[in-house]
Amino acid sequence: MTDQPSPLANFENSLAFAKTLDKHDPLADMRNQFHIPQHQGKDEIYFCGNSLGLQPKRTAEYLNYELSQWQKLGVKGHFSGDFPWMPYHEFLTEGFSELVGAVPSEVVAMNSLTANLHFMMVSFYRPDQKRNKILIEDHAFPSDHYAVESQIKFHGFDPKESMLLVKPRNGEHVLRTEDIIATIEAHADELALILLPGVQYYTGQVLDMAAITAAGHKAGCKVGFDLAHACGNVPMQLHQWGVDFACWCTYKYLNSGAGSVAGCFVHERHHTDKTIPRFAGWWGHNKETRFKMDNQFDPIESVEAWQLSNPPILSLAAIRASLDTIKSAGGIDALHQKSLRLTGYLRYLLNDQLKDDVDILTPEEPGAHGCQLSLAVNTHGLDGKMVFNRIEEAGVTGDWRYPNVIRVAPVPLYNRYEDCYRFVQILKQSLQQEGDASEQ
Ligand SMILES: *Cc1c(COP(=O)(O)O)cnc(C)c1O
Repeated sequence: MTDQPSPLANFENSLAFAKTLDKHDPLADMRNQFHIPQHQGKDEIYFCGNSLGLQPKRTAEYLNYELSQWQKLGVKGHFSGDFPWMPYHEFLTEGFSELVGAVPSEVVAMNSLTANLHFMMVSFYRPDQKRNKILIEDHAFPSDHYAVESQIKFHGFDPKESMLLVKPRNGEHVLRTEDIIATIEAHADELALILLPGVQYYTGQVLDMAAITAAGHKAGCKVGFDLAHACGNVPMQLHQWGVDFACWCTYKYLNSGAGSVAGCFVHERHHTDKTIPRFAGWWGHNKETRFKMDNQFDPIESVEAWQLSNPPILSLAAIRASLDTIKSAGGIDALHQKSLRLTGYLRYLLNDQLKDDVDILTPEEPGAHGCQLSLAVNTHGLDGKMVFNRIEEAGVTGDWRYPNVIRVAPVPLYNRYEDCYRFVQILKQSLQQEGDASEQ
């Protein structure tokens, strides 16, 4: 990242300047590959790609193709056409492996995110009397918290004892790597697993996954990451970092539709380890002999061994459409480069226009944030939700968290510098005026 120009270089606070940035943006055309929701006849300022990404125009085409295969071929669709259903998940391997920095055998699309967290913990959380703790963050995403808590109970341990929580220091919003590592070192003998996010959902902070993995392994425990807010947002090198496992959903920065099938990474070094327990299903069985039905489980020597069922093809088709769209943009590195500049411009405008009213919780260093900025807004006594409603009425889709935090994520695939400019204007008006910001 050191060879990149400063994302904050030479910005100006004007609509004309924002439009110039768009004009010179090599990825500006990507926006035409998406359906942009409308607000009063105009494109919305859609800053919610961290929650549900917009629909690529390819998606309908790819889904329709599979529907027509089914219409024409029935069961033969498993083996016919350009994208037969039997090996369909393999068509996603290359795209996934580039997004998370994996070798192809380490990634697969299967199940949903929380289900995969459970299946990974079945294999990689093996507590005993001495080592039974799981390190997670205080205020983890609820589903991750519940998954970890229930796994601990499932093994007969007490979450009060076995859940080790890391949190920001008093008065701070984001985690410090040194604090995470100090916690790992202090509990080195008791830790069975570290399960942290790649990007923290509330603050948008990118954690130092390489350093955490190294510290975890030094302590003798397994290290997994929830990449729900990281995948498609920031480049990663899971293989090189030696991460044991990771899981992500595909409906946030991967634009594959609500509830779409999730992704999973298991490091190569675990693929042939017969001592690792696993909840198995027929889709994890050796492809050559899967249909012999002899009931002798012979796991595939890759992450695919963790698959259970034949997957929902329509959902995988949506993921394929999204991965092809990302590829046509030049991949995650190209997207990330624009992202730093786009989010950098938003930060610049907020600092320039709303320095006293908005506290940006997201760290500023290029390696410590992705698309999202989390804004603690000084609402001057106004109800935070009301301010947010005004922003929505003015055509912005963002995300509001009680009592006063607005999360906005300009994404490089379909957002413009102009969106950032207009958003800051709208936020400013919503805070300053008693009236309705949508009239502006
Ligand atoms: C979005 C998100 C989830 C959602 O889990 P599902 O199983 O896909 O419903 C879980 N964890 C984190 C950290 C998330 O950001």
